[in-house]
Amino acid sequence: HMESVGFIGLGNMGSHMARNLINAGYRVSVHDVNENAMKRFSDDGIPTRQSPLQVSESSDVVITMLPSSSHVLDVYNGQSGLLGNGGLLGPWLYIDSSTVDPQTSRKISMDMSRCNLKEKKGYAQKPMILDAPVSGGVPAAEAGTLTFMVGGLEEAYVAAKPLLLAMGKKLIYCGGAGNGSAAKICNNMAMAISMLGVSEAFALGQNLGIKASTLTDIFNCSSARCWSSDTYNPVPGVMAGVPSSRNYDGGFTSKLMAKDLDLAMASASGVGFKCPMGSEALEIYRKLCDEGCDVKDFSCAFRHYYTGKDE
Ligand code: NAD
Repeated sequence: HMESVGFIGLGNMGSHMARNLINAGYRVSVHDVNENAMKRFSDDGIPTRQSPLQVSESSDVVITMLPSSSHVLDVYNGQSGLLGNGGLLGPWLYIDSSTVDPQTSRKISMDMSRCNLKEKKGYAQKPMILDAPVSGGVPAAEAGTLTFMVGGLEEAYVAAKPLLLAMGKKLIYCGGAGNGSAAKICNNMAMAISMLGVSEAFALGQNLGIKASTLTDIFNCSSARCWSSDTYNPVPGVMAGVPSSRNYDGGFTSKLMAKDLDLAMASASGVGFKCPMGSEALEIYRKLCDEGCDVKDFSCAFRHYYTGKDE
C-alpha cells in the first residue's frame, strides 16, 4: 500500500474510516475545518493539511466524508478547493462518501471531467471520481464493516476496491456517476417510511388493545415484517440493545434522517417526480426535530403516534 491517501472530514464516521486506512498501512494525511478533529490525528503523528487544495497536492487518492451537499461542493469547488490549481490534478482518484443528492455527485463528476492529471499514471489517463456513500453507521465505521454503494466509472470502482475494503466489507457497484448517491437516498427514504409505517401500526394496535410485543411477534412471521420491526423496533421494551430501549439515545439521529429525506425530496423535484410518502415522512421528522428530538434516534418517530397507552 504505498499510495498516499488524503482524508477530508474527520467527524463521527470519517475519523474511524481514516483510522482504518492508517491501520491497513496507507500513508494518510488529513484535513478538517475543525482544528480539534485534526489535533487527534496530529497528536499521533499523522500529517495534517490546512486546505483541500493542500490535500490534493500531496495525495494519490482523496476521500471526502462531509455532512452534506453544500460542504462537498465547497470542498471541491470552493477557494483552495480540491479542483483548484487550474484543473491540473495530482491525485488520480477522488472518492466522496458523504450522503449527498445524486445531482451534486453528477455535477462534481462533470467538473472533474474537465480536469487533467498533472502526471499521467499507468492506470489512469484522467482523474476519476466515485460517489461511494455508506450504510452501517458509526459502529460499522469503527469496525471497518461498512457497506459502500458506488457510482462512477467501473474501472475506477475496480481500482478503488482494495481501499474501500480497508473501511468496509460489502461493496455494491451501482452504475454511472451519482448512482451510489441515488441508491443511498432511496434506501434511507424507504427506511424512514417503513419506520413510520410500523410505528403507526404499533400505536394503532395499542389503542385497539393489543400489545406492541405481541404485534411484533406477529409482524415478524407475517407480511409486515421489516428491518424496523425485527431489528430496530421503535417501541420501548420490545427489543433489547436498540435505541428505543435506551430512551432513543445513540443510533441515527432524527436530524440526519430529516437531512436525507430533504435530499431525496430535492432530487425528486429535480426530475419532476412526486414522492407523497417521502414528503409526509419529511414533515414528521422535521416536526420531531422542532420538538427537540433532533439528536434522538430516528425510531423516536414512534413517539409521534404514542398516546400514552402502556404495554
Ligand atoms: P459529522 O458531522 O460527524 O462529520 C463531518 C465532518 O466534516 C466534521 O468533522 C466537520 O468539521 C467536517 N467539515 C464540515 N465542513 C467541512 C469543510 N468545508 N471542510 C473540511 N471539513 C469539513 O458527520 P458524520 O456523522 O461523520 O457523517 C458524514 C456523512 O456520512 C454524512 O453525509 C452522513 O449523512 C453520512 N452518514 C452518516 C452515518 C451516521 O450514522 N453518522 C451513517 C451513514 C452515512
